[in-house]
Amino acid sequence: MPLSEFSLIERFFARRARAQSGTPSGAILGIGDDCALIAPQRDELTAVSTDMLVEGRHFLPDADPQALGHKALAVNLSDLAAMGAKPRAFTLALSIETPREAWLAAFADGMFALAERFGCELIGGDTTRGPLNLCLTVLGDVPRDAALRRDGARPGDDIWVSGTLGDARAGLGLLRGEWPAALHDDEDAAFLRRALERPEPRVALGLALRGLAHAALDVSDGLAGDLMHILERSRVNAAVDVDAVPRSPALEKLPREAQLRCALAGGDDYELCFTAAPDARDAIAAAGGRAGVAVTRIGTISALRHPADEPAIAWHDASRAPLSLTLHGFDHFHAD
Ligand code: ADP
Ligand code: MG
Repeated sequence: MPLSEFSLIERFFARRARAQSGTPSGAILGIGDDCALIAPQRDELTAVSTDMLVEGRHFLPDADPQALGHKALAVNLSDLAAMGAKPRAFTLALSIETPREAWLAAFADGMFALAERFGCELIGGDTTRGPLNLCLTVLGDVPRDAALRRDGARPGDDIWVSGTLGDARAGLGLLRGEWPAALHDDEDAAFLRRALERPEPRVALGLALRGLAHAALDVSDGLAGDLMHILERSRVNAAVDVDAVPRSPALEKLPREAQLRCALAGGDDYELCFTAAPDARDAIAAAGGRAGVAVTRIGTISALRHPADEPAIAWHDASRAPLSLTLHGFDHFHAD
Protein backbone atom coordinates (compact mmCIF):
# COMPACT_ATOMS: atom_id res chain seq x y z
CA MET A 1 0.00 0.00 0.00
CA PRO A 2 1.43 3.40 -0.90
CA LEU A 3 2.30 5.68 1.99
CA SER A 4 -0.12 8.51 2.62
CA GLU A 5 1.42 11.94 3.01
CA PHE A 6 0.58 12.03 6.69
CA SER A 7 1.88 8.61 7.59
CA LEU A 8 5.05 9.38 5.66
CA ILE A 9 5.63 12.62 7.58
CA GLU A 10 4.81 10.99 10.89
CA ARG A 11 6.88 7.88 10.38
CA PHE A 12 10.03 9.18 8.81
CA PHE A 13 10.24 12.74 10.04
CA ALA A 14 7.95 13.78 12.92
CA ARG A 15 8.62 10.77 15.12
CA ARG A 16 12.35 10.98 14.51
CA ALA A 17 12.36 14.69 15.23
CA ARG A 18 10.57 14.14 18.56
CA ALA A 19 13.04 11.41 19.42
CA GLN A 20 16.04 13.63 18.81
CA SER A 21 17.85 13.60 22.09
CA GLY A 22 17.98 16.82 24.05
CA THR A 23 18.32 19.25 21.18
CA PRO A 24 18.52 22.74 22.66
CA SER A 25 16.77 24.34 19.67
CA GLY A 26 14.48 26.46 21.78
CA ALA A 27 11.53 25.23 19.70
CA ILE A 28 8.39 25.66 21.73
CA LEU A 29 6.36 23.88 19.11
CA GLY A 30 7.82 21.59 16.47
CA ILE A 31 6.22 19.54 13.70
CA GLY A 32 2.45 19.19 13.63
CA ASP A 33 0.85 22.60 13.71
CA ASP A 34 0.48 25.30 11.06
CA CYS A 35 3.81 26.80 12.05
CA ALA A 36 6.67 25.88 14.32
CA LEU A 37 7.29 28.30 17.16
CA ILE A 38 10.80 29.12 18.28
CA ALA A 39 11.79 31.46 21.07
CA PRO A 40 14.21 34.24 20.12
CA GLN A 41 17.60 34.05 21.80
CA ARG A 42 18.49 37.10 23.86
CA ASP A 43 20.96 39.47 22.20
CA GLU A 44 21.51 37.14 19.25
CA LEU A 45 20.61 37.40 15.60
CA THR A 46 18.98 34.52 13.77
CA ALA A 47 20.97 33.38 10.72
CA VAL A 48 18.74 31.84 8.03
CA SER A 49 19.83 29.98 4.93
CA THR A 50 18.20 27.75 2.31
CA ASP A 51 19.83 25.26 -0.04
CA MET A 52 18.05 23.10 -2.56
CA LEU A 53 19.31 19.83 -4.03
CA VAL A 54 17.75 18.74 -7.32
CA GLU A 55 18.11 15.29 -8.82
CA GLY A 56 20.09 15.31 -12.04
CA ARG A 57 21.63 18.66 -11.18
CA HIS A 58 23.18 18.31 -7.72
CA PHE A 59 23.14 14.55 -7.37
CA LEU A 60 22.89 11.53 -9.62
CA PRO A 61 19.57 9.66 -9.80
CA ASP A 62 21.10 6.55 -8.21
CA ALA A 63 22.68 8.45 -5.29
CA ASP A 64 22.80 6.57 -2.00
CA PRO A 65 19.82 7.95 0.00
CA GLN A 66 21.68 7.93 3.29
CA ALA A 67 24.51 9.98 1.83
CA LEU A 68 21.93 12.29 0.30
CA GLY A 69 20.25 12.85 3.68
CA HIS A 70 23.65 13.69 5.11
CA LYS A 71 24.60 16.01 2.27
CA ALA A 72 21.27 17.85 2.11
CA LEU A 73 21.70 18.96 5.73
CA ALA A 74 25.50 19.29 5.57
CA VAL A 75 25.46 21.88 2.78
CA ASN A 76 22.99 23.96 4.80
CA LEU A 77 24.96 23.64 8.04
CA SER A 78 28.00 24.72 6.05
CA ASP A 79 26.30 28.06 5.38
CA LEU A 80 25.71 28.53 9.10
CA ALA A 81 29.36 27.65 9.75
CA ALA A 82 30.48 30.24 7.22
CA MET A 83 28.45 32.87 9.05
CA GLY A 84 29.84 31.89 12.46
CA ALA A 85 26.33 30.82 13.52
CA LYS A 86 25.42 27.99 15.86
CA PRO A 87 22.93 25.55 14.30
CA ARG A 88 19.53 25.58 15.95
CA ALA A 89 16.73 24.17 13.83
CA PHE A 90 15.80 23.33 10.25
CA THR A 91 12.88 22.64 7.96
CA LEU A 92 12.68 20.12 5.13
CA ALA A 93 10.66 20.59 1.96
CA LEU A 94 10.65 17.32 0.07
CA SER A 95 9.14 16.46 -3.26
CA ILE A 96 9.33 12.83 -4.23
CA GLU A 97 7.75 10.87 -7.09
CA THR A 98 7.22 7.45 -5.53
CA PRO A 99 7.95 7.37 -1.81
CA ARG A 100 9.62 4.06 -1.03
CA GLU A 101 10.07 3.07 2.58
CA ALA A 102 13.65 1.86 2.30
CA TRP A 103 14.68 5.03 0.51
CA LEU A 104 12.98 7.32 3.04
CA ALA A 105 14.35 5.41 6.02
CA ALA A 106 17.91 5.64 4.70
CA PHE A 107 17.51 9.30 3.80
CA ALA A 108 16.16 10.08 7.28
CA ASP A 109 19.02 8.11 8.88
CA GLY A 110 21.64 10.18 7.09
CA MET A 111 19.91 13.45 7.86
CA PHE A 112 19.11 12.81 11.53
CA ALA A 113 22.57 11.45 12.30
CA LEU A 114 24.01 14.82 11.31
CA ALA A 115 21.16 16.78 12.94
CA GLU A 116 21.83 15.08 16.26
CA ARG A 117 25.56 15.67 16.07
CA PHE A 118 24.97 19.39 15.70
CA GLY A 119 21.95 19.72 18.01
CA CYS A 120 19.82 20.97 15.13
CA GLU A 121 16.15 20.06 15.40
CA LEU A 122 13.77 19.35 12.51
CA ILE A 123 10.83 21.68 13.25
CA GLY A 124 8.72 21.51 10.10
CA GLY A 125 8.58 21.23 6.36
CA ASP A 126 6.41 20.29 3.45
CA THR A 127 5.92 17.06 1.54
CA THR A 128 4.59 16.72 -1.96
CA ARG A 129 4.64 14.39 -4.93
CA GLY A 130 6.94 15.41 -7.78
CA PRO A 131 10.45 15.03 -9.19
CA LEU A 132 12.95 14.38 -6.40
CA ASN A 133 13.91 17.69 -4.85
CA LEU A 134 15.20 18.43 -1.35
CA CYS A 135 15.01 21.93 0.00
CA LEU A 136 16.20 22.62 3.52
CA THR A 137 16.17 25.83 5.49
CA VAL A 138 18.43 26.12 8.52
CA LEU A 139 18.24 28.55 11.40
CA GLY A 140 21.19 29.41 13.59
CA ASP A 141 22.21 31.91 16.25
CA VAL A 142 25.02 34.40 16.21
CA PRO A 143 25.78 37.27 18.59
CA ARG A 144 24.99 40.66 17.09
CA ASP A 145 28.51 41.71 16.13
CA ALA A 146 30.06 38.29 15.60
CA ALA A 147 28.58 37.27 12.22
CA LEU A 148 31.28 36.37 9.67
CA ARG A 149 30.09 38.37 6.69
CA ARG A 150 31.59 38.54 3.21
CA ASP A 151 32.14 42.28 3.25
CA GLY A 152 34.74 42.59 5.99
CA ALA A 153 38.03 41.70 4.24
CA ARG A 154 40.71 44.38 4.66
CA PRO A 155 43.94 45.13 2.77
CA GLY A 156 46.81 43.26 4.44
CA ASP A 157 44.60 40.38 5.58
CA ASP A 158 45.78 36.83 5.10
CA ILE A 159 43.52 34.51 3.10
CA TRP A 160 42.93 31.12 4.68
CA VAL A 161 41.11 27.92 3.78
CA SER A 162 40.20 24.93 5.92
CA GLY A 163 40.79 21.28 5.08
CA THR A 164 41.80 20.36 1.53
CA LEU A 165 40.18 21.57 -1.68
CA GLY A 166 39.25 19.72 -4.87
CA ASP A 167 38.50 16.32 -3.39
CA ALA A 168 34.76 16.39 -4.11
CA ARG A 169 35.37 17.36 -7.71
CA ALA A 170 37.93 14.59 -8.06
CA GLY A 171 35.38 12.19 -6.53
CA LEU A 172 32.87 13.23 -9.17
CA GLY A 173 35.48 12.71 -11.87
CA LEU A 174 36.02 9.25 -10.49
CA LEU A 175 32.32 8.42 -10.84
CA ARG A 176 32.42 9.76 -14.38
CA GLY A 177 35.58 7.83 -15.27
CA GLU A 178 37.57 11.00 -16.00
CA TRP A 179 40.93 9.81 -14.66
CA PRO A 180 41.34 6.12 -15.46
CA ALA A 181 45.12 6.43 -15.70
CA ALA A 182 45.81 8.18 -12.41
CA LEU A 183 43.79 6.65 -9.59
CA HIS A 184 44.30 2.98 -8.87
CA ASP A 185 44.30 2.93 -5.11
CA ASP A 186 40.98 1.92 -3.52
CA GLU A 187 41.68 4.01 -0.44
CA ASP A 188 42.23 7.14 -2.51
CA ALA A 189 39.05 6.43 -4.45
CA ALA A 190 37.04 5.90 -1.25
CA PHE A 191 38.43 9.12 0.25
CA LEU A 192 37.49 11.20 -2.79
CA ARG A 193 34.06 9.67 -3.03
CA ARG A 194 33.44 10.37 0.61
CA ALA A 195 34.43 14.00 0.11
CA LEU A 196 31.77 14.26 -2.61
CA GLU A 197 29.02 12.40 -0.79
CA ARG A 198 29.61 13.23 2.87
CA PRO A 199 31.02 16.71 3.26
CA GLU A 200 31.72 17.69 6.86
CA PRO A 201 30.25 21.11 7.72
CA ARG A 202 32.93 23.19 9.51
CA VAL A 203 30.60 24.39 12.25
CA ALA A 204 33.14 24.25 15.09
CA LEU A 205 35.64 26.21 13.02
CA GLY A 206 33.04 28.85 12.15
CA LEU A 207 32.30 29.32 15.84
CA ALA A 208 36.00 29.42 16.73
CA LEU A 209 36.59 32.13 14.11
CA ARG A 210 34.14 34.57 15.71
CA GLY A 211 36.05 37.71 16.55
CA LEU A 212 39.07 36.53 14.52
CA ALA A 213 38.03 36.33 10.86
CA HIS A 214 37.19 39.58 9.11
CA ALA A 215 35.27 37.87 6.27
CA ALA A 216 34.27 34.30 5.52
CA LEU A 217 32.25 32.06 3.24
CA ASP A 218 31.96 28.39 2.50
CA VAL A 219 33.50 27.13 -0.73
CA SER A 220 30.65 25.49 -2.59
CA ASP A 221 31.25 26.51 -6.20
CA GLY A 222 35.04 26.43 -6.36
CA LEU A 223 37.58 28.68 -4.65
CA ALA A 224 38.14 30.93 -7.69
CA GLY A 225 34.49 31.94 -7.95
CA ASP A 226 33.74 31.99 -4.24
CA LEU A 227 36.76 34.08 -3.24
CA MET A 228 35.55 36.61 -5.82
CA HIS A 229 32.37 37.01 -3.75
CA ILE A 230 34.46 38.18 -0.79
CA LEU A 231 36.48 40.48 -3.03
CA GLU A 232 33.41 42.02 -4.61
CA ARG A 233 31.57 42.52 -1.35
CA SER A 234 34.67 43.89 0.38
CA ARG A 235 35.97 45.90 -2.62
CA VAL A 236 39.53 44.49 -2.43
CA ASN A 237 41.97 42.42 -4.52
CA ALA A 238 43.60 39.10 -3.70
CA ALA A 239 46.90 37.39 -4.52
CA VAL A 240 46.82 33.59 -4.14
CA ASP A 241 49.69 31.08 -4.24
CA VAL A 242 48.19 28.06 -6.04
CA ASP A 243 50.92 25.82 -4.62
CA ALA A 244 49.83 26.75 -1.10
CA VAL A 245 46.23 25.67 -1.72
CA PRO A 246 45.97 22.52 0.41
CA ARG A 247 45.49 19.29 -1.54
CA SER A 248 44.98 15.78 -0.23
CA PRO A 249 47.43 12.96 -1.01
CA ALA A 250 44.65 11.37 -3.08
CA LEU A 251 44.17 14.47 -5.21
CA GLU A 252 47.93 14.73 -5.66
CA LYS A 253 47.84 11.49 -7.65
CA LEU A 254 46.19 13.39 -10.50
CA PRO A 255 48.19 15.35 -13.09
CA ARG A 256 49.04 18.86 -11.82
CA GLU A 257 46.70 20.53 -14.29
CA ALA A 258 43.74 18.42 -13.08
CA GLN A 259 44.72 18.98 -9.43
CA LEU A 260 44.63 22.73 -9.88
CA ARG A 261 41.36 22.69 -11.73
CA CYS A 262 39.75 20.53 -9.05
CA ALA A 263 41.19 22.55 -6.15
CA LEU A 264 40.56 26.01 -7.60
CA ALA A 265 37.34 25.58 -9.56
CA GLY A 266 35.90 22.23 -8.65
CA GLY A 267 33.04 22.97 -6.30
CA ASP A 268 31.27 21.04 -3.56
CA ASP A 269 34.18 21.44 -1.13
CA TYR A 270 32.23 22.95 1.80
CA GLU A 271 35.45 24.15 3.38
CA LEU A 272 35.66 27.66 4.82
CA CYS A 273 37.60 30.43 3.10
CA PHE A 274 38.24 33.42 5.34
CA THR A 275 40.45 36.43 5.83
CA ALA A 276 42.08 37.70 9.01
CA ALA A 277 44.78 40.10 10.19
CA PRO A 278 48.34 38.72 10.14
CA ASP A 279 48.62 39.25 13.91
CA ALA A 280 45.82 36.68 14.35
CA ARG A 281 47.87 33.85 12.80
CA ASP A 282 48.58 32.02 16.04
CA ALA A 283 45.00 32.41 17.23
CA ILE A 284 43.70 31.04 13.95
CA ALA A 285 46.01 28.06 14.04
CA ALA A 286 44.75 27.42 17.59
CA ALA A 287 41.12 27.80 16.42
CA GLY A 288 41.75 25.18 13.73
CA GLY A 289 43.33 22.93 16.33
CA ARG A 290 40.31 23.26 18.63
CA ALA A 291 37.93 22.62 15.73
CA GLY A 292 39.94 19.61 14.59
CA VAL A 293 40.57 20.85 11.06
CA ALA A 294 43.70 22.07 9.31
CA VAL A 295 43.78 25.74 8.36
CA THR A 296 46.19 26.94 5.66
CA ARG A 297 47.26 30.40 4.55
CA ILE A 298 47.02 30.71 0.77
CA GLY A 299 47.32 34.41 -0.01
CA THR A 300 46.86 38.05 0.82
CA ILE A 301 44.23 40.74 0.43
CA SER A 302 45.28 44.09 -1.04
CA ALA A 303 43.61 47.41 -1.78
CA LEU A 304 42.15 48.13 -5.21
CA ARG A 305 44.58 50.31 -7.18
CA HIS A 306 41.74 52.64 -8.06
CA PRO A 307 38.39 52.77 -6.25
CA ALA A 308 36.52 52.13 -9.51
CA ASP A 309 38.55 49.00 -10.41
CA GLU A 310 36.92 45.59 -10.58
CA PRO A 311 38.34 43.33 -7.86
CA ALA A 312 40.52 40.50 -9.17
CA ILE A 313 42.55 37.50 -8.04
CA ALA A 314 46.22 37.42 -9.05
CA TRP A 315 47.34 33.78 -9.11
CA HIS A 316 50.96 32.85 -8.70
CA ASP A 317 52.96 29.71 -7.99
CA ALA A 318 55.39 28.96 -5.18
CA SER A 319 58.20 30.76 -7.02
CA ARG A 320 55.89 33.79 -7.26
CA ALA A 321 55.67 33.44 -11.05
CA PRO A 322 52.28 34.77 -12.17
CA LEU A 323 49.85 32.24 -13.66
CA SER A 324 47.02 33.06 -15.98
CA LEU A 325 44.35 30.54 -15.23
CA THR A 326 41.22 30.06 -17.28
CA LEU A 327 39.13 28.33 -14.72
CA HIS A 328 35.65 29.22 -15.81
CA GLY A 329 35.45 26.60 -18.54
CA PHE A 330 35.73 23.72 -16.10
CA ASP A 331 32.38 22.01 -15.96
CA HIS A 332 31.30 20.51 -12.72
CA PHE A 333 28.17 18.80 -11.62
CA HIS A 334 27.23 21.44 -9.07
CA ALA A 335 27.18 24.10 -11.76
CA ASP A 336 25.29 26.88 -10.00
P1 ADP B 1 0.07 22.51 5.98
O1 ADP B 1 -1.12 21.97 5.27
O2 ADP B 1 -0.23 23.49 7.05
O3 ADP B 1 1.16 22.93 5.05
P2 ADP B 1 1.21 19.93 6.19
O4 ADP B 1 0.12 18.94 6.16
O5 ADP B 1 1.97 20.21 4.94
O6 ADP B 1 0.65 21.27 6.80
O7 ADP B 1 2.24 19.51 7.30
C1 ADP B 1 1.83 19.11 8.59
C2 ADP B 1 2.94 19.30 9.55
O8 ADP B 1 4.02 18.46 9.16
C3 ADP B 1 3.50 20.72 9.62
O9 ADP B 1 3.89 20.98 10.94
C4 ADP B 1 4.71 20.67 8.72
O10 ADP B 1 5.68 21.60 9.11
C5 ADP B 1 5.18 19.23 8.93
N1 ADP B 1 5.88 18.65 7.78
C6 ADP B 1 5.40 18.39 6.55
N2 ADP B 1 6.31 17.79 5.76
C7 ADP B 1 7.42 17.69 6.53
C8 ADP B 1 8.72 17.16 6.30
N3 ADP B 1 9.11 16.63 5.13
N4 ADP B 1 9.60 17.20 7.32
C9 ADP B 1 9.25 17.75 8.50
N5 ADP B 1 8.06 18.22 8.78
C10 ADP B 1 7.13 18.21 7.81
MG1 MG C 1 2.25 21.86 3.74
